[in-house]
Amino acid sequence: MDRYGMHIDGRPEAGQAGREYETVDPFTGQAWAAVPDGDGADVDRAVAAARAALRGPWGATTPTARADVLRRLADLVERDADALAALETRDNGKLLAETLAQCRGLPHWLRYFAGLAETARGAVIPTAKANVLVYTREEPVGVVGAIVPWNSPLLLLVFKLAPALAAGCTLVVKPSEQTPVTTVELARLATEAGLPDGVFNVVTGAGPEPGTALAAHPDVAMIAFTGSTEIGRLVAHAAAERFARSTLELGGKSAQIVFADADLEAARDGLLAGIFAATGQTCVAGSRLLVHRDVHDELLALLVARADTIRLGDPTAADTEMGPLSSPAQQTRVRGHVERAVEDGARLVAGGHDGGLGGCFWAPTILDGVTPDMRLARDEVFGPVLAVDVFDTDAEAIEKANATPFGLAAGVWTTDIGRAHRTAAALDAGTVWVNTYRMMAPEV
Ligand code: NAD
Repeated sequence: MDRYGMHIDGRPEAGQAGREYETVDPFTGQAWAAVPDGDGADVDRAVAAARAALRGPWGATTPTARADVLRRLADLVERDADALAALETRDNGKLLAETLAQCRGLPHWLRYFAGLAETARGAVIPTAKANVLVYTREEPVGVVGAIVPWNSPLLLLVFKLAPALAAGCTLVVKPSEQTPVTTVELARLATEAGLPDGVFNVVTGAGPEPGTALAAHPDVAMIAFTGSTEIGRLVAHAAAERFARSTLELGGKSAQIVFADADLEAARDGLLAGIFAATGQTCVAGSRLLVHRDVHDELLALLVARADTIRLGDPTAADTEMGPLSSPAQQTRVRGHVERAVEDGARLVAGGHDGGLGGCFWAPTILDGVTPDMRLARDEVFGPVLAVDVFDTDAEAIEKANATPFGLAAGVWTTDIGRAHRTAAALDAGTVWVNTYRMMAPEV
């Protein structure tokens, strides 16, 4: 069993209460790492360290010095990316090919925000008042609490960490109970990169207590949360209670619209990658397919033929195309969603079982005839389950796509450029991809 500490004030630390818990490798089902089971007292210690660092030398650093640390951290992450990816795959069961791509990409994000640290500037504001100089200054918000889910622990953390450090903030990070290890490792690398003690702290824990304590902490000026809509609501309430800022990146039920004029083979590849990459466990998973009636049968046949041949297996093996779900509980949830869809009248055309592998596996699953009234059209599965429905007109496609309380992402497949832009503008989604899916870059 490997053993990890929390990371408080630049040092590995046990929890105040001395408890530990074990994290489980979803592929083997074996516990492999022991980490401290922290609580509110540990959050207090970490926030105190973050506050002291903000008032200490970190608070007085120049933007250039902060950019230098971010670039040194980028170099160290580049050096250790493959080892970090291997740890992440052990923690969440994602394909090593995916965690490698994410970890090797992290330096790009860190360097991008290093550049922003050096180029952010305030403004001088002209005024009618004589002998008055009015100007704005960029200042750090303060101590930032970052709460992160298990599906892309390092990438989603770096989305918060890099801008916060660039701005001169300090952080207390609460990783998911399922995937604490790489976060602790990143904090250790940050210390090696020369980040002063107390700037980047990590509190681990088996239950919700550290997250609850962090969201409610009076000395935390901003909460950056990524996770489920349900927990995001609790976090937003806790932050609003004391007028702290919050950013919330929540769940999704993203629609991919395929028009009759689309390149169907390209759409097939984008749709499969959109829903089956990471075993469907991405917030932006393209989990609803809305396809024009004229090409429904042809596209569905293409999708089913490929879905049935996706190779499930060991996430570290080079020829595996889809790994396990992240936990037995996750598999139970996915199974329940599929059973309810069939009860509601949807037609199972691919998957719907554990692929014969047992453990946490779930085969790529496609359900056809999923009308807007069905639960599968509305509820986030967070697994490899595609819900298919048809449309006849552009207006109907847009109406169906927008008929969801989520607003995260959407995809449009068409060779008509006017239709692409009209549809993208009409979709109520934060990100709309056209003839591609799940592309990300720090510049956007
Ligand atoms: P989750 O909401 O269960 O947990 C997220 C984090 O919140 C974890 O660290 C957890 O320990 C912590 N937490 C749990 N209870 C808490 C509480 N009461 N107060 C404060 N923190 C608490 O989500 P998850 O199961 O880890 O992740 C899956 C969800 O995350 C999905 O809904 C997915 O769509 C969403 N997600 C969103 C994005 C995005 O960028 N929009 C990215 C990835 C995942």
